[in-house]
Amino acid sequence: MKLIIIGAPGAGKGTMSEEIINKYNIPHISTGDMFRDQIARQTELGLKAKEYIERGELVPDSITISFVKERLLQDDCKTSYLLDGFPRSEAQAEVFAQMLENKELGLDAVIYLEVDFSKLIERVTGRRICRNCKSVYHTVFSPSKVEGVCDKCGGELYQRPDDTEESLKQRLEAYNEETMPVIKYFEKLGYVKKIDASQDIENVKASLFEVLGDIK
Ligand code: ADP
Ligand code: AMP
Repeated sequence: MKLIIIGAPGAGKGTMSEEIINKYNIPHISTGDMFRDQIARQTELGLKAKEYIERGELVPDSITISFVKERLLQDDCKTSYLLDGFPRSEAQAEVFAQMLENKELGLDAVIYLEVDFSKLIERVTGRRICRNCKSVYHTVFSPSKVEGVCDKCGGELYQRPDDTEESLKQRLEAYNEETMPVIKYFEKLGYVKKIDASQDIENVKASLFEVLGDIK
């Protein structure tokens, strides 16, 4: 299965990606996770990306495209992948489309998590992530059994530095201006499967698996 998952920051892409990879065991390529890993390892790319991420802006295409393309061209993506966070700008979508045309990649569907923006502030500010296995929690909607500790691996949970009200505002602007045209583009090509992501986690999951059942 070759999928893109797309939606506003806090729509639930990471949460639903966990469900998909648990069930179908396919590579999860999260560009946000890839950048956070580079930042943690203090690489040159990580240091460059950090300033944009902290401001809630997109990392420039000149950095992002070659970095993600290299990952997508690895062998494990030939049979299946779940791409979370890319393409996020028109230039990125053009590169992706070119890869489809060259048959370097295939695509079955774009899962669009459509969410009411009024839900996002609470989701984003309550988000907690495992430093070790990257599992996603929420202080209210999806709490860990022991506060601050990952249920799955015992790792430490942390709050992303960009999960603030101010940064969310900026990220939503970037989403509206740069990512919405990408969704429209995939809609025109007939790839988009829309899911109501304003529902609670269990109901979003049920809608998601209904859609995925039709694709398989
Ligand atoms: P994204 O990857 O799209 O930015 P996440 O999957 O990280 O979003 O979800 C953002 C936060 O909201 C997380 O803390 C997650 O636990 C929580 N969350 C995800 N989906 C829902 C939902 N349907 N209802 C309530 N909270 C949710
Ligand atoms: P995410 O984990 O998807 O919320 O991404 C966190 C941040 O990483 C975003 O706010 C951007 O700054 C950056 N980022 C992730 N993916 C991309 C991308 N495809 N293009 C540009 N910036 C990105």
